[in-house]
Amino acid sequence: MEATTLRNSRVYTDQAMSCLFCKIVDKQIPSTPVYEDELVYAFADIHPKAPVHILVVPHEHMGSLADAGKNKQALLGHLLWAAAEIARQKNLANGYRIVVNTGDDGGQTVDHLHLHLMGGRQMTWPPG
Ligand code: AMP
Ligand code: ZN
Repeated sequence: MEATTLRNSRVYTDQAMSCLFCKIVDKQIPSTPVYEDELVYAFADIHPKAPVHILVVPHEHMGSLADAGKNKQALLGHLLWAAAEIARQKNLANGYRIVVNTGDDGGQTVDHLHLHLMGGRQMTWPPG
């Protein structure tokens, strides 16, 4: 069984202890906050690929969308709702793109589930 640690009332697996986005959620690593509630944290992407480029992550560590079981359906829905709410707050009335890179073929580089919210320019299709 995997070792766990308790910090700030949260239970951490070894994997979460070394996870960049867990550290950002915990404010151990600085980020530019955009939105937060009891389930998710949203912050500016450090290398923006669009005028608006925000990452929306669950507080809870989850490696990727592929790791989300059926019991995470409500959390997944909340992540999407939060992204749409941030888009409204950012006045992205002309549209935007939500991307969830998943696994190696999906181009995922940080192994903590995250939604990219990108807007403020015309997106192209298909993505690379
Ligand atoms: P992905 O390639 O889909 O896993 O996306 C990871 C994203 O995290 C990339 O767009 C990075 O620019 C972004 N990123 C990496 N480190 C940081 C950081 N410290 N603060 C904010 N965004 C980051
Ligand atoms: Zn994590």
